[in-house]
Amino acid sequence: MFYRKAVKEIHAAVTVCIITLTLIFSAASSPAEAAQAKTPAQQEVEKYSLKELNTTKEGQMALYNYYREAMGVNSDPNKNARLRSIMTTLINAVGKVDPTVNTLPYVYFVNNNTSLNAFCSLGHVVSVNSGTFDSIINEDELAVIIGHEMGHGQKDHPYKGTKATQQKVLLANIGATIAGAVVGSGASILTDLTTGILLNQSIAHGTKSQEKEADSLAFDYMLNTNYNPGACAAIWQRFIDLSGTAIQSKSEMFFNPSDHPNNLARRDKYVQKLYEYSGKKVTVKEISRTTVNEKEVTRTMLVVNGKDFMETAAANGMSSAERSYFILGNLAVAYHRGYNKSAAYVNGGTVYLGQQPIITPVSGEDSAQAIADKLNALK
Ligand SMILES: [Zn+2]
Repeated sequence: MFYRKAVKEIHAAVTVCIITLTLIFSAASSPAEAAQAKTPAQQEVEKYSLKELNTTKEGQMALYNYYREAMGVNSDPNKNARLRSIMTTLINAVGKVDPTVNTLPYVYFVNNNTSLNAFCSLGHVVSVNSGTFDSIINEDELAVIIGHEMGHGQKDHPYKGTKATQQKVLLANIGATIAGAVVGSGASILTDLTTGILLNQSIAHGTKSQEKEADSLAFDYMLNTNYNPGACAAIWQRFIDLSGTAIQSKSEMFFNPSDHPNNLARRDKYVQKLYEYSGKKVTVKEISRTTVNEKEVTRTMLVVNGKDFMETAAANGMSSAERSYFILGNLAVAYHRGYNKSAAYVNGGTVYLGQQPIITPVSGEDSAQAIADKLNALK
């Protein structure tokens, strides 16, 4: 998943998973009643081993239908169009980094959950919560979330995590002698409770190193699209900005917006990647972070060649800090492509380096010409 709390909280979250699934599946007290309550989608998914769910088209489709039934399918045309557009772009981009993307093509849907999150399960099933599209308007930032999930998918993290849990569940079941619990390698997954734990496990968990790997891959995928790679840092700034706002009450169990060390670390890791991508020419430094009316305000400075370049203003539904990371992304791309060898110029109110737009100034910022002049003096 895209968000997670500190490792120590995972166990509590798994417990929540189990409770949730118990509710989803209306797990009955006896195996006979449980069998009666199973829907066709549940029955279908239980025909397959974890390996089959993960690697075969039939298993993938069983899982796809299972999640669609369990989570609900959102038919909002705008949200579906946005997901389709991003998936199409990212599947192409992932293919440039990792040709195995076509081994089992991804399937995807918008689910009805109103909180902010997304997942990739066994068998390359991607789903984005409906609420994510309400909170994240910018398509580049949405692509970072989905790219992160595809990073998990490409590295087979869902399967690795599920296998590890299967072992634990098996041992726990033996210990507790839960009636009907038989989990054998290659055999179908038995009992509603076990199925629920394993399938939710396949979407909920990532170890810390897996999360880092997925973050890193998301950056690589973004570099193979026309999306702004600065969105990788910008989205984490957005989460930092959202701390303490209404979104917190809508957050899922793995998402804790006030978990600052984690959010800041993930933002800064991307800033470092952007700095390196630019040939160590451009970055953003944090000037201050203060709380104003229970809302946190971050001030940042764009830095070119080690010298202060400019502070951005808030615009387009973004804080000044969030916006600064998009400008950083533009500058990093321009430097990476060598456009800094020619002078910055203004065209139609936008500052350019080569073919790369850098910034269209808004209220509170200098004129485009003044910004171009400053950039030329520093670069
Ligand atoms: Zn993740």
